[in-house]
Amino acid sequence: MILSLALALLTACTAFITSAPPTTPSPTAVPTITPLTAEEEAIFAQKRERMVIETIERRGITDEDVLRAMRAVPRHLFVPEEERDYAYGDFPLPIGYGQTISQPYIVALMTELLELKEGDKVLEVGTGSGYQAAILAEIPGVEVYSIEIIPELAESARKRLESLGYTNVHCKQGDGYYGWPEYAPFDAIIVTAAPDHVPPPLMDQLAEGGRLVIPIGPPGGYQTLWKFVKQPDGELQAFNMGGVAFVPLTGPGAEEHPHQGGYEWPTP
Ligand code: SAM
Repeated sequence: MILSLALALLTACTAFITSAPPTTPSPTAVPTITPLTAEEEAIFAQKRERMVIETIERRGITDEDVLRAMRAVPRHLFVPEEERDYAYGDFPLPIGYGQTISQPYIVALMTELLELKEGDKVLEVGTGSGYQAAILAEIPGVEVYSIEIIPELAESARKRLESLGYTNVHCKQGDGYYGWPEYAPFDAIIVTAAPDHVPPPLMDQLAEGGRLVIPIGPPGGYQTLWKFVKQPDGELQAFNMGGVAFVPLTGPGAEEHPHQGGYEWPTP
């Protein structure tokens, strides 16, 4: 296994990148889509444009498809109504059931790291609100498979993505630790909740040359964001992309398989 700490795009940052708030948010109602006036939509569009310029482009995201996706997806429709006014701030927000929608910059960064191209099949573990899945689905010619473990979130995200017209997103409820073998191999896999090791089924379901982007670290703490690239011999080339804070990967897969070592996480 080749370990590269040289790609320190993010490690140069002094602050940790947070994808989840330090405290677990209390459950809120599953967000619904209620119609907004044209004026309200225009205000949200303005806020979204400012978010892309100030927190996505300015922090170094350059992939044109990713920037276009971040401009296209209405994040305010993926958060509970009481959070809408904060939808374009660069921080995670509660979506109910103790879960969060990730910080926009992290969504953009992880999407860029996947290096998606036309014809790629991408697996997401942790559908949550469906926002990351929608961003992936905006990349031209990409097919998205997304798994969420909490039934209520899985169902509301599926409905939301359907109502927004994302026919290239396929959702299922289940334990993403085991991936989605029926559609493997995947050209890219993104995990948006943190296990303390790379789930072997995800490694197996990654195509040769495939990219896996995943936070790894102890439950409830900070993690390291890793990008792995599968080599022709099946080994993973590893790139440390810096510190992050995600909610833990839960479920039988993560609980029944102990930490297997191999990748370090930072001490805060
Ligand atoms: N990608 C989401 C979005 O755009 O809203 C945010 C993801 S949130 C930070 C992490 C999600 O992973 C939660 O919804 C959580 O329920 C889910 N999750 C945790 N463990 C999981 C597992 N084993 N399989 C699938 N989903 C899981």
